[in-house]
Amino acid sequence: MEKKYDANPNHPGKLFVISGPSGAGKGTICRRLLEETDIELSVSMTTRAPRNGEVEGISYFFTDRDTFIERVNAGGFLEYAEVYGNYYGTPKQLVIDKLKEGIDVVLEIDIQGAMKVKENYPDGIFIFILPPSMSELRKRITGRGTETEDAINLRLSKTLSEISYIDKYDYCVVNGLLEEAVSRVKSIIVAEHSRVAEDVRTLIERYEEEI
Ligand code: ADP
Ligand code: 5GP
Repeated sequence: MEKKYDANPNHPGKLFVISGPSGAGKGTICRRLLEETDIELSVSMTTRAPRNGEVEGISYFFTDRDTFIERVNAGGFLEYAEVYGNYYGTPKQLVIDKLKEGIDVVLEIDIQGAMKVKENYPDGIFIFILPPSMSELRKRITGRGTETEDAINLRLSKTLSEISYIDKYDYCVVNGLLEEAVSRVKSIIVAEHSRVAEDVRTLIERYEEEI
């Protein structure tokens, strides 16, 4: 079991974890967050083959199973999981460094991975993305045109068991209209930065000095 890491206790960045069934729109929402907020995306490593248009180091770090396992054994992942027949993992050091620098980080990872992160980093904020319906999910995953029919059926067959984990998450966003979903996720980020934290004491002391 990986240890809870030691982020700067004063101004660590916040760790947002986004999960949900394949085709729900996680990647689309994350891309919008990167464009419209200061959050940074952790680029995962995977043994899955690249899809058309995917770029090494931006979409994923693509690798083979032996190299992946070597990295697992060297403790190089914050979490990793086998998802739909391939390995996926979050490289550890980059995420920790960014959080220490006060940068928010988003992980777009599956539920098994999210549960491992939750054990080690309970301060993370866990967001579940739901499709508006199963028929829309099928339409989206088919329309994306990136998977074979077998791969699509495997992914769809996992949907109900994935959704059963929703109560382990802090927030749930239905991705019906994209604009609405993006706006809700951005609101969650803003709300999490408005929590009453230790820093508030310093602010109150400043008010007291002024009186
Ligand atoms: P995931 O990352 O969850 O597997 P994607 O972000 O790849 O899903 O989205 C799956 C497909 O659905 C893509 O073709 C994407 O353009 C489309 N999509 C995403 N969100 C919406 C939405 N709100 N309305 C319609 N289509 C969407
Ligand atoms: P895809 O093959 O569609 O890119 O991703 C398949 C699934 O793997 C998605 O649910 C995605 O969130 C998940 N995934 C991507 N990167 C990681 C990772 O680093 N760790 C884990 N546990 N899951 C990941």
